[in-house]
Formats: sequence, C-alpha cells, structure tokens
Amino acid sequence: MQVTKTVEETRKLIKNWKMEGKTIGLVPTMGFLHEGHASLIKKCREENNIVVVSDFVNPTQFGPTEDLEAYPRDFAHDSALCESLGTDLIFNPEPENMYIDPYTYVNIDVLSDTLCGKSRPIHFKGVCTVVSKLFNIVSPDKAYFGQKDAQQLAIVRKMVQDLNFDIQIVGCPIVREEDGLAKSSRNTYLSPKERQAALCLSKAVKKGQEVICEGAMAEEVLDEMCGVIKEEPLAKIDYVSMVDALTMQPVEKVEKDVLVAMAVYIGKTRLIDNFSFQM
Ligand code: AMP
Repeated sequence: MQVTKTVEETRKLIKNWKMEGKTIGLVPTMGFLHEGHASLIKKCREENNIVVVSDFVNPTQFGPTEDLEAYPRDFAHDSALCESLGTDLIFNPEPENMYIDPYTYVNIDVLSDTLCGKSRPIHFKGVCTVVSKLFNIVSPDKAYFGQKDAQQLAIVRKMVQDLNFDIQIVGCPIVREEDGLAKSSRNTYLSPKERQAALCLSKAVKKGQEVICEGAMAEEVLDEMCGVIKEEPLAKIDYVSMVDALTMQPVEKVEKDVLVAMAVYIGKTRLIDNFSFQM
C-alpha cells in the first residue's frame, strides 16, 4: 500500500495504473475509520483493480462554530485498517496542498437547501468542492458513498450528472452498532450516558419505518418519530423531515420514493440517521 500527500505524486501513480489498463475505485473519507468506512472499502475492493481511499478532514465543509479542530484523527489506525482491506493507495493531503485562497467552489442549490444543508449552510458547498477535486485528482471509474449521509449521496449523484463526471456512484447501506446506533466517527464524542441516549435516533428510525409501512402521511410519521426522540431528556431535535428522494424537497404524502432523515443533538454532539422508503 502506498501513501501520498500531494496531488502530483497521486496523479503520477494513477496515470501509471491507467496505462496498465487498471480500473480505479475511490472511497472518499475524513478518516478515523470504522466499520462503516470499511464496508465501502470492501465493496470497492470487490469491484475494482485499484482501491484508493482519501483520508482528509476537509476544512471547507465545516462551519466557523463547528468541530473542525476537535474532529478525531488517527492516521496510524486508518492506515493499518486500509492495508488489511487491500487498499492500494491512501491519499492523505494537508489542507495547504488542497486549498489556496481565494478558492473556486462547486455549489448545488435546491438539494442543499433542506435537511443538513439548512442547519449547516456552507456544508454541501465544501463537500461538492472537495469531492469534485478528488474526482479530478483520482479520476476513478467508480466512487463509493454511504447511505448514512443520504443527502450527501443524493447531492453527489446530481453533481455527477450535472457536471458530466464519467464516474459511477455506488451507494452503500448504513452500518450500525449491534444496538442500532449508526456508526460514526463522531460517536467518540459521546459520554457513556450520551451513548445510551443516542439510541433514540435508531429507535425513531424503526418507529418511522413501522408507521410508514402502515400507509401513514408524512406528518404522522414525523410526529411518531419526534415522540420517540422527545422521550430522551439528553436529546434535542435539529430536524426530522420527509423529503423526495431525488430533489430533497419536503413531501406530505408518500407517493414517490422518499428519504426520512433526522439530525439530533445528544448533548453537544450532532448525530444523523435516516431511512429510505421505496414505492
Ligand atoms: P466520513 O468520513 O464521515 O466523511 O464518511 C466517509 C464515507 O463513509 C461517507 O460516504 C459516509 O456516508 C460513509 N459512512 C460513514 N459512516 C457510515 C456508516 N455507518 N455506514 C455506511 N457508510 C458510512
């Protein structure tokens, strides 16, 4: 396994692999890798000759009051996990290798106006920019993203379509802890008490899935889910919403494929979870 820090050395390796006719898969991450990330890397390993994992805490997707500094990092652990999963290259740049102010940004309206985009106004502009850069640096055949960040996945799919990236986007299911909590690098912020309280998200997902299967309208589904979360004193709802799976715009009736997504503060930690419902 190789590790690169700069765009130039990464491009050189990619060029050689392409000349050998190899297919390339990319798994973009912010590091502090867990089994959720591992599931993407495994799928990428199955489907490509070369597996590239990017490990970069992207500053442009954090708001000024968010946890950029505190975001957990452990490159030794990440690198050992990637190696054990058969990764060929980890691209691990420093921010100064990626951004020189003033910068060119990629932005997508409408899809980023709701859900997490509403609470984190610059977040998806940073995501689209860094993902576009990674696509241009690595030029993968396929790129792997988790359903855990369902709005991000929808936005990346739309961006690829709109900007004509010749890349297949592969969505991968949410990996959970045994008790239901969606795996996340941010779970490390939780105290033991908060870790227990955080189960209200996956319980709300379960409740939502039950109610939606009985044919309920959006309002009823969301009320039931909010009811579950409000039983937990340490939880504070940022949003619980039902949106069209493609446009990310709110819906009242379940007539097309929908995404039911939430963000909930457990103490100071903001956690997300979601489920999709196909008609
Ligand atoms: P992050 O490092 O949090 O930016 O995540 C990198 C990629 O891993 C994103 O595509 C996430 O959606 C995906 N991911 C993170 N957690 C999970 C999980 N629990 N299950 C599946 N995919 C995940």
